[in-house]
Amino acid sequence: MPELPEVELVKRELTPVINLKITDVELSQYIYNGHKTNKRTIVKDNLEAFKTLVAGKMIMHIGRRGKYLYFLLGDEYETTHLVSHLGMSGAYFIVSDFEDIKEHNFKKHWQVIFSLDNGQKLIYSDIRRFGEMHTHESLHDFPPFARMAPEYTDELSLDHYMTMMRAKKYENKPVKAAIMDGEVIPGVGNIYAVESLYLSHILPTRKVKNISDKRLHELFDRITEVFELSLSRGGSTISDYRSVTGGKGEMQNSFNVYQRKTCPLGHPLKTKVINTRNTFYCTTCQR
Ligand SMILES: [Zn+2]
Repeated sequence: MPELPEVELVKRELTPVINLKITDVELSQYIYNGHKTNKRTIVKDNLEAFKTLVAGKMIMHIGRRGKYLYFLLGDEYETTHLVSHLGMSGAYFIVSDFEDIKEHNFKKHWQVIFSLDNGQKLIYSDIRRFGEMHTHESLHDFPPFARMAPEYTDELSLDHYMTMMRAKKYENKPVKAAIMDGEVIPGVGNIYAVESLYLSHILPTRKVKNISDKRLHELFDRITEVFELSLSRGGSTISDYRSVTGGKGEMQNSFNVYQRKTCPLGHPLKTKVINTRNTFYCTTCQR
C-alpha cells in the first residue's frame, strides 16, 4: 500500500497536468457495475453528478494530505476538490494514448480516464479497486482531513505529535498503532512504522505510556528520516505501486527489517500482527 512518500512522489509527478482542462471523464465498467450493486466502487459520489462536476474544469492545484491526494478543480463559476486515495494498488498515468500504459494489468484495470485539453489523458488504474475518489466543496468537509495532524514538514508537527502521544487515548496503545494513526502523524503505514521503530530501537508492541519523551522524540526524527530517504529513492515498490511514468522505486532495497528474516546485525527477526498488519522487529536491538 502506498504510504506518504509514494503518494508525495505521485503528486510531484502529476505537476504537468496543472493548468490543463479536463474535457471529458470516462468511468470503467467495474465502477458502473459496483454502483449498480450499491458498492460504490472507487468513485463515491453519484456517477453522473461526478462526471458533470469534473468535466470542463481546470486542474488548478494538486496537493497531498497524509496518504490522500487532492486536485483543486475550477471553472469560471465554481471550484471543487477531487480527493483521491490510491488504496492498495492505485496508480496514475499521463499518456498521449491509452496504449502507452506499458503493463498489461494496469491497462486492463483502468478505472477513470480524464481527457485533457492538450490531447493527453490522465488515467487512474486500480487493480484491486480499494482506491477512492470523491468531491468536496471545501477540504474541511472531509472528516479525515479535519482531524488529521499537521504534516511532518510542518513546524507544528513535533509538538502536536508529543501532545497526542501523551493523550489518554494513546497511552495504552502499542506504539506502532499510535504512529499509524493520522491524528498523531499523517502518512505512516506499515512499512515506515516498522522501519522507524527499528531505527529508534523501540519495540513495536511497547505501550506508549512506557516510552520516555526522549525516545518518542527520537522516533519522530526517525520517521521523518525514513520518509526523506524514501523520497530520495523514488519510494518503495512492494507489489503494485508505480510512479506516474510507470517506474518503480528503490527504497525496498534499503529496508532494515520489513520483509526481512534478520536485522542488519544478523539477529533473527520476530513477526507479529499489530494493527492488522504483519510487523517485523528484533528483540535484541529493540526494547
Ligand atoms: Zn537486531
